[in-house]
Amino acid sequence: MSFATASPTILARGLSKAYRSGSREVPVLRGVDFVAAPGELVAIVGPSGSGKSTLLHILGTLDAADDGEVVLAGQPVAQLRGEALAAFRNKMIGFIFQFHQLLPDFTALENVMMPGRIAGREPRELAREAAALLASVGLADRQEHFPNQLSGGECQRVALCRALVLKPPILLADEPTGNLDPASGETVFRLFLDLQTQHATTAVLVTHNPELARRCARLFVLENGVLRAENTRSETFGTQPPPSSRTASSDGPA
Ligand code: ADP
Ligand code: MG
Repeated sequence: MSFATASPTILARGLSKAYRSGSREVPVLRGVDFVAAPGELVAIVGPSGSGKSTLLHILGTLDAADDGEVVLAGQPVAQLRGEALAAFRNKMIGFIFQFHQLLPDFTALENVMMPGRIAGREPRELAREAAALLASVGLADRQEHFPNQLSGGECQRVALCRALVLKPPILLADEPTGNLDPASGETVFRLFLDLQTQHATTAVLVTHNPELARRCARLFVLENGVLRAENTRSETFGTQPPPSSRTASSDGPA
């Protein structure tokens, strides 16, 4: 399978969205098209209020567009409702938000396990996988900590593990380093890249940090309701090859 011919994991066509405030209608998205191939990493930047979160929520089935369609792994999401949509989202999409949104009364391990518990996974096997993920982001000794016993960067690493525990084909991240100091942000971003590559996850990263955005294979700018492509270092890096061809690499994550 080559990336050039693979059918897209994320396909969005003609997305429009406006918010009504009183009698006024504020257009946010005005006909956005977006395609991401399997395993691809795409960044979206844009000024505050330009609609990045709105777009990410629509791609992630958390919100619906007024017009246009979203097709994820071949499934038109408009055909799904209620529990079927929730189950599809849980299985297909991992989310990471600016604020980690961990559940405060659950430990790091329990938070990572949560999507699997919801999906009805066998708890012991799930716990092993969650623990391995936490170890892979350097948190082996923090499993039993509660969110208020962890730093912001550690919480985001837990949130990253939670997003990936069901090995979803899609990872959507909304300013995941926006609330972190530069050093923690860099750690979280590197882990995000490592895990995205290792799992061959199709990922969309919304960020206001142009330096991070340029390190993604493709970059889009959302402005005035329109999404346009920008050049990045993709000429040098290209789309990440699938992990099967990288397993012998010595620089991969341990
Ligand atoms: P970004 O993530 O790029 O900062 P958002 O998608 O959060 O932008 O918001 C885009 C615009 O839509 C902003 O002007 C915001 O005020 C407005 N907006 C977002 N959510 C709502 C809502 N639920 N109701 C009304 N307006 C909203
Ligand atoms: Mg936002």
